[in-house]
Amino acid sequence: MRVLVVSDVHSNLVALEAVLAAVGDVDAVWSLGDVVGYGPRPNACIDRLRERDAISIPGNHDWGVLGKADLGMFNPDARQANLWNRAQLRPSARAYLEGLEETRVEGAFTLAHGSPRAPIWEYLLYSDTARENLQHFETKVCLVGHTHIPAIFYLPPDADRCTLDQPPEGEPFPLEEGRYILNPGSVGQPRDGDPRAACLLIDTEALTVEQRRVAYDIEETQRAMRLAELPYRLSARLEMGW
Ligand code: ZN
Repeated sequence: MRVLVVSDVHSNLVALEAVLAAVGDVDAVWSLGDVVGYGPRPNACIDRLRERDAISIPGNHDWGVLGKADLGMFNPDARQANLWNRAQLRPSARAYLEGLEETRVEGAFTLAHGSPRAPIWEYLLYSDTARENLQHFETKVCLVGHTHIPAIFYLPPDADRCTLDQPPEGEPFPLEEGRYILNPGSVGQPRDGDPRAACLLIDTEALTVEQRRVAYDIEETQRAMRLAELPYRLSARLEMGW
């Protein structure tokens, strides 16, 4: 099965549509949360995922719009954008987010927004926290988002420490013996200095994973953010990939 893994779409419809178009036919779409927040098109992004029968889990921004997260945990720009997203949300979109389970298991893959240990909030940026989190899921691989930075944490058999690498772009790499935590990066607000939308393609039979980056019309999203009077810094950061 060929699976497209997206995360942190953040209401950036132009980026999501560019990714869906670039990868072509896939058998499934998995979304690792934060489909809303920051950007201008929350309802349409949820619609696209529903049209694809995506398997979704919630992130902190999804909980924010539902009133399930303390917005005091967000910086002022993020909070303002989250309240705007909340006000836009149609009842059906809200119901979709309400219905999401915090984690999912799909074959050899566990899906969690932040980490398997604390799915909504924990950031996995370093190999020591990744190592601790390996005890909090059963499958070979855990897929996480939340940091907006692509990453491969790998624990070889009999090893004590995890390695941390950036996935190579555009070339499928085979998953070896051992266990992994993989982060596809962010579709709607990349933060690794590359403004292109990030995603992963997984072949669940061959057990290969491929990092893709997809250029999209950033200015179109920025225009929509200006019209919505979303914070200027949130729109400016898109072109810097931060
Ligand atoms: Zn996010």
